[in-house]
Amino acid sequence: RELPGDPRTDIMPREVLHACYSKVSPSVQVENPQLVAWSESVAEILDLDPKEFERPDFPLLFSGASPLVGGLSYAQCYGGHQFGMWAGQLGDGRAITLGELVNSKNERWELQLKGAGKTPYSRFADGLAVLRSSIREFLCSEAIHSLGIPTTRALSLVTTGKYVTRDMFYDGNPKDEPGAVVCRVSPSFLRFGSFQLHASRGKEDLKIVQALADYTIRHHFPHIENMNKSDSLSFSTGQENDSVVDLTSNKYAAWAVEVAERTASMIAKWQGVGFTHGVMNTDNMSVLGLTIDYGPFGFLDAFDPSFTPNTTDLPGRRYCFANQPDVGLWNIAQFASTLSSAHLINEKESDYALERYGTKFMDDYQSVMTKKLGLPKYNKQLISKLLNNLAVDKVDYTNFFRLLSNIKADSSTPEEELLIPLKAALLDIGKERKEAWISWVKIYIEELLASGVGDEERKALMNSVNPKYILRNYLCQSAIDMAEQGDFDEVRRLLKVIERPYDEQPGMEKYARLPPAWAYRPDGCWNV
Ligand code: AMP
Ligand code: MG
Ligand code: MG
Repeated sequence: RELPGDPRTDIMPREVLHACYSKVSPSVQVENPQLVAWSESVAEILDLDPKEFERPDFPLLFSGASPLVGGLSYAQCYGGHQFGMWAGQLGDGRAITLGELVNSKNERWELQLKGAGKTPYSRFADGLAVLRSSIREFLCSEAIHSLGIPTTRALSLVTTGKYVTRDMFYDGNPKDEPGAVVCRVSPSFLRFGSFQLHASRGKEDLKIVQALADYTIRHHFPHIENMNKSDSLSFSTGQENDSVVDLTSNKYAAWAVEVAERTASMIAKWQGVGFTHGVMNTDNMSVLGLTIDYGPFGFLDAFDPSFTPNTTDLPGRRYCFANQPDVGLWNIAQFASTLSSAHLINEKESDYALERYGTKFMDDYQSVMTKKLGLPKYNKQLISKLLNNLAVDKVDYTNFFRLLSNIKADSSTPEEELLIPLKAALLDIGKERKEAWISWVKIYIEELLASGVGDEERKALMNSVNPKYILRNYLCQSAIDMAEQGDFDEVRRLLKVIERPYDEQPGMEKYARLPPAWAYRPDGCWNV
């Protein structure tokens, strides 16, 4: 529905009923905005010539200060469960979609500015973003993509030249911080909450759930739209009165199953690289199975299953590293329940989607962990012993797996030499713990010998799944500190490093180092 009045000014926070979006234009104020960084690979997706980024008006266009000709800007209306509680309407409070771009491959990409001013969904907040969190979102979406994990992307990051007041600091004092705008890019920013909100608003709005589901399937799941009976996508539920769920007879059921499977697969990949999202509310769950909304995220440094990067997640730790797979299931259950309440899927189909989530997660997780160890088949005991050891000794998750590929499949290695390849990861380990590690490495070597894969071949395979370079919080913070002083070089350098996480990058080894003492946080949170 059209907003009454001028969309540039009518941004009064309000409940927006019976609508999936509101037309709204960026209202951000700028003063000599600057381009901080841009992603070459996203530019390529959009068929943008690198020269475009040198245009003097680029920062004006991509801060939202100048309108993009031909765009039709809007903010999305959605709801969500926050920390397990239904929160009602949320919506794009500081994200404004500029429009969609169809590239030369006929792919449709949505361009969205984050931090370009208020929308009807801004509630009590300012609709703006600070440079600190914008650098984090920009770098991490590109890092996650480069790690091979589905995610929304980031084209560009510009400063607004204006200051924004934030009061979330450890000392409790408000602080003026430089404002910035990230241009996010995705086939779609639709979330579980985009569907949930309308289902929550009563009978009349159930048809909106269906219309939005039809739209989503038509545009983003065309293989489901076009499936026919002869595809025979029948599955046994595996349950007692074993009846068959025929996914070809109901496109919404096929869709629910695919959303469940994509979500499971994405989370299995997160677990593989130690990524902790930090705010897995249902409004932050993409129906395309993309990682979305980079807030207080954190990669594991020392392995700690209970690690949460989010201060507001303490002490419950709902969104801690080890809980992510279960939270994913909980979120899928909410999504399936939304489709059920709109009469798009029945109980059996809903149960089946949940079951597929579990199966897909276990399959993918086991496969990820097996590859990380360079083994041909899953070994539950070996992996759980390892994770236990890593947790007890607070070993760096990334560096440990990267070093592990240096272990030779040689049963004649003397005991005192077994831990040498892991030395840089196994720091400050007492005698007793050394024994635990030696006993694990011995079993590991037996498994390697049984696999028959050569050391060099295995090392190459392992290095293609165990990153050397991840976006550690302290690296991000160093880039932020410099950028806040007006020097954007470190953001750009770090971008280049995290774009090739699995490659050896001579000269860049310092980016693989453990966090320094200054980066220590008593609660592990970075409060962003
Ligand atoms: P998040 O926890 O990042 O998913 O945000 C939850 C909700 O708060 C979403 O509806 C956001 O759009 C909104 N929000 C977060 N920060 C701001 C801000 N600075 N201005 C307006 N809305 C915001
Ligand atoms: Mg969000
Ligand atoms: Mg956010």
